[in-house]
Amino acid sequence: MSLSLSAQQLARIRTKLETRRSENPPAAKAAALEAALERIANGEYGYCVECGDEISAARLSMKPEVALCSDCQALKDEEDDSNT
Ligand SMILES: [Zn+2]
Repeated sequence: MSLSLSAQQLARIRTKLETRRSENPPAAKAAALEAALERIANGEYGYCVECGDEISAARLSMKPEVALCSDCQALKDEEDDSNT
């Protein structure tokens, strides 16, 4: 597994996640931030938890707690829509 994020980028993302976690976010958001920090610690950060594809650095910098690649996110959004 090779990750396109540099150690420096990863450190910056971790700081961002830790800052957001300290801002007392809603529980669902806090859980997502926590899970992202855990993936960094495990060396799994930056990969989609559904399909294992790399998540683009642009996507991660916009929303560092994302756990899904854009394809899986789109599928999930469709499912969510059909549930409502
Ligand atoms: Zn995916």
